[in-house]
Amino acid sequence: LKAEWDKLKHAKTVTADGKHFELAGNIGTPKDLEGVLGHGGEAVGLYRTEFLYMDSPDFPTEDEQFEAYKAVLEGMEGKPVVVRTMDIGGDKELPYLKFPEEMNPFLGYRAIRICLAEDQMFRTQLRALLRASVYGNLRIMFPMIATLAEFREAKALLEEEKAKLVAEGVDVSDDIQVGIMIEIPAAAVIADRFAKEVDFFSIGTNDLIQYTMAADRMNERVSYLYQPYNPAILRLIKNVIDSAHAEGKWAGMCGEMAGDQTAVPLLVGLGLDEFSMSATSILRTRSLMSRLDSKKMTELAEKAITECDTADEVVALVEEYTK
Ligand code: PEP
Ligand code: MG
Repeated sequence: LKAEWDKLKHAKTVTADGKHFELAGNIGTPKDLEGVLGHGGEAVGLYRTEFLYMDSPDFPTEDEQFEAYKAVLEGMEGKPVVVRTMDIGGDKELPYLKFPEEMNPFLGYRAIRICLAEDQMFRTQLRALLRASVYGNLRIMFPMIATLAEFREAKALLEEEKAKLVAEGVDVSDDIQVGIMIEIPAAAVIADRFAKEVDFFSIGTNDLIQYTMAADRMNERVSYLYQPYNPAILRLIKNVIDSAHAEGKWAGMCGEMAGDQTAVPLLVGLGLDEFSMSATSILRTRSLMSRLDSKKMTELAEKAITECDTADEVVALVEEYTK
């Protein structure tokens, strides 16, 4: 096994019949790059920048952020890096950013909702990202987008900061993809509308599953409802991927499901373009994909979506197709 994985470290990710998929790593700090590259990651599919804020006694300055983003972009040597703007709130708190207590923090003031309201903080992050953009292949991603209005507002702030920097004579890349996380069911349902305006989607299944099933991802008493293979979840994922492709855009996934060995055959069948996961799952997933036939997986996914009533039935079907 070790020998096979060593060989796969420098190989492209292809199925048995030669279809290519991109395997990327999730990171929380520039230090995590080592793991992604060491395990043969082809990209960074999710850089969770909130750790920069959480590890700091006060707001990280524009320069501090710039240095972190630059280090990641340079470290990846031109390979794509998807940086997610700050996703604070829910279970992640900042000691220096206090808000009134909420009854349902996961349904409350978090992520892009905070960024659009506290736009000075958000603008600082956007400026740092824009300045770093010339050091690699930067893609910017907004978290917890529910409506097109939110995306348009965030994108407009990005454009404003870009125009200011250019006017100041600062070099900014002209080739930055701007996308969103799909982790709120409303966005998954109208993905066709979003696909006309974004450059890419990355499906955040950790949140998408909890919001779709109305089952807190931390609550053990309802964990039986946290079902990645539920046909309802698969249909949402299919809608997101198909909507992206209809507009010539790409769709990835950066939730835990992307590296889940039962989900991967289904996601290959649904045509997901990019899979982003913890570094330690990359080689296992590349190895699994190399044994899958993509046409057979298309048939599997189609069947799971049209013929299965329950998550258990989906799991049984995956087992039958991957024996
Ligand atoms: C997700 O929701 O799937 C995700 C990747 O974001 P986080 O786990 O940071 O909420
Ligand atoms: Mg999330």
